[in-house]
Amino acid sequence: MNRLRDRDITYLKSVGPARAKLLKAELGISSYYDLLYHFPTSYLDRSRVYRIADFPRDVEESSMPAMLVKGEFVSFSVHGEGAKMRLVGLFSDGSGLMEIVWFRRIAEIRKAYTNGRRYVVFGKPAMFNGRWSMTHPEVDAEGSNADSTGLRGNYPLTEKLRQRGITSRTIYGLVAQVLGNLPPNLTETLPQSIISHFRLMPLARAIVAIHAPKDAAELDAARNRFKWEELFYLQLDIQRFCRNRAASSGGFVFGKIGYYFNTFYKECLPFELTGAQKRVIRQIRKDTCTGKQMNRLLQGDVGSGKTLVALMSMLIALDNQYQACLMAPTEILATQHFETISSMVGGLGINVKLLTGSTPKKARDLIHEGLQSGAVHILIGTHAVIEDNVKFKNLGMAVIDEQHRFGVAQRARLWTKNIIPPHVLVMTATPIPRTLAMTVYGDLDLSVIDELPPGRKPIVTVLRYENKRMDVYRAIGEQLRQGRQVYIVYPLIEENEKLDLKSLEEGYEMICDTFRDYKIAYVHGRMKPAEKDYQMSIFASGEARIMVATTVIEVGVNVPNATTMVIENAERFGLSQLHQLRGRVGRGGDQSYCILMSKPQLSKTTRERLTLMTQTTDGFVIAEADMKMRGPGDMEGTAQSGLIFDLKVANLTKDADLVEQTRDAAIALLNADPMLAAPDNRIAARQLTLLTNRIADWSRIS
Ligand code: ADP
Ligand code: MG
Repeated sequence: MNRLRDRDITYLKSVGPARAKLLKAELGISSYYDLLYHFPTSYLDRSRVYRIADFPRDVEESSMPAMLVKGEFVSFSVHGEGAKMRLVGLFSDGSGLMEIVWFRRIAEIRKAYTNGRRYVVFGKPAMFNGRWSMTHPEVDAEGSNADSTGLRGNYPLTEKLRQRGITSRTIYGLVAQVLGNLPPNLTETLPQSIISHFRLMPLARAIVAIHAPKDAAELDAARNRFKWEELFYLQLDIQRFCRNRAASSGGFVFGKIGYYFNTFYKECLPFELTGAQKRVIRQIRKDTCTGKQMNRLLQGDVGSGKTLVALMSMLIALDNQYQACLMAPTEILATQHFETISSMVGGLGINVKLLTGSTPKKARDLIHEGLQSGAVHILIGTHAVIEDNVKFKNLGMAVIDEQHRFGVAQRARLWTKNIIPPHVLVMTATPIPRTLAMTVYGDLDLSVIDELPPGRKPIVTVLRYENKRMDVYRAIGEQLRQGRQVYIVYPLIEENEKLDLKSLEEGYEMICDTFRDYKIAYVHGRMKPAEKDYQMSIFASGEARIMVATTVIEVGVNVPNATTMVIENAERFGLSQLHQLRGRVGRGGDQSYCILMSKPQLSKTTRERLTLMTQTTDGFVIAEADMKMRGPGDMEGTAQSGLIFDLKVANLTKDADLVEQTRDAAIALLNADPMLAAPDNRIAARQLTLLTNRIADWSRIS
């Protein structure tokens, strides 16, 4: 394989320096290897011949596949004039008729085809005035060279390449030249034992089959091999890293539970812990007395009470004469944690401090001093807590809230805050399916809070179209009269920022007009932090009864008296985002409502998405559905998660069974041969080095 990486595509037929430069810039292809591993993303099936009478009638036009038909032209006619001129050929395959329409090169085409000869036509049929038609399909004489059947790949291209006349066929032409000259002894990239045990297609065959499969079965086998390989090396890398760390990193021993934890538990706890909270706290206690560093991911749906678990874990650290810190992604959230936690532990003589970007210099200096002397016990804050000048006397426990907002590098910095790295608890409300967690957070132990505090009534979610706005306002008015608070959320995305801000402003004015008796808070991401904080604080205190906002409120805000959330243009939000937003209500004992407002014309998938929201409040169900709809690459968090292997063919959700299979295979291989030193396994060691050289270092991930 290595030689392929050294061979330059410039010298392939029809490439040359200009195209080579373009291919490099647009697709990152410069060597034979790059070209061979530029796989088609979909395939057109020319292996199956369709009958016109059998064209599917229930498929939406946009998702109609290209189809191959064999038959002859019955007649030709020209319609329209000038720019609107079109040539229509009536085509019959014996089962039915369709029109083939051309708008360009009419004279030339009219000459090229003859009535009564057999042709192979390949294109997307569409129903037009009750008759099937195809526009500018590929037409080849039957039996000619071009009339090859089999699957044809569609290669990913960019707009620029298309403009320069590079098509999927061009790419295939280049690939075919390389395939035609492959060395006979193409080096396998998986150990032979694995190939035979899992019956994988050998590389030399698979690389041909992925570009030019004879049929669907061969394509499946080839894709399966590449998926397997990708996932296997990913898992091998994670497993190897876990082993190294397990062998090397010691952790503080929190040998006892003492005054802080016990007094808090007995005297300060405002409610009974849920079973799930107790279980997680027990897990954390167990982790922290083993002598190994804890690295635990705590997943719990919005409102499940993670903050309390964080606090009690920090109290264990304090009981063992260590300091603790809690890092949150936004200033608002950090402040809220600070207030909740200070008020909960107020009577225990614990010194809690808040450190954010806007902490004034003087106060900041004092906090720095207190951390170094040990006078500050718990530090709560934003990114400010991981800055270099923040030094602890003895940090023993670090909690990261809503971790999907933090990058890997930021998490890793916590490790440097003490000579022995502190125990780390990472909390997230974005539930991720098991196979993804296993991969993305493969080295973290997982805890789940799968139980909400008692007395919570499930949020009632409804979908309302624009024409029901007045009804929605009446419902809001009713909640306000009962003393409750209301969120009204608008989308705001960068590409559309101007328009979005405008509709936000208009919405705000309309709300002000409609609800004149109430104070209304107004927040968006473009505001100055101080103004934002002020607006948030008047809502949190209950002074403002309505909050009109963009998604800045998405994360973590806790106002239990807010019982209604209206989400405007709900069709523009993703499922997980809707779930996060909705989690801002339903936090107290009162019945809460979420109203999804949308325009009435919705695509099928959007309607499905919104309907799902009205049917379930289970974050895991929603996360699974979201991943199926969008693919994990787009999932919030995965981009920053440290999953740096760029998966080309495998998909962590769709290929869940392969994820598990390759993980087991990786573990088995390392158990049998930890150094990957056996002759058959050296290939794996080499391949892993090659792949990991290109990616960031797992060892920096906490
Ligand atoms: P999240 O997991 O989303 O961070 P929080 O920690 O903010 O959730 O908790 C949500 C709300 O539930 C808070 O108001 C908190 O005081 C309350 N809560 C937490 N645990 C319990 C419990 N065991 N019983 C009753 N209420 C609880
Ligand atoms: Mg929270």
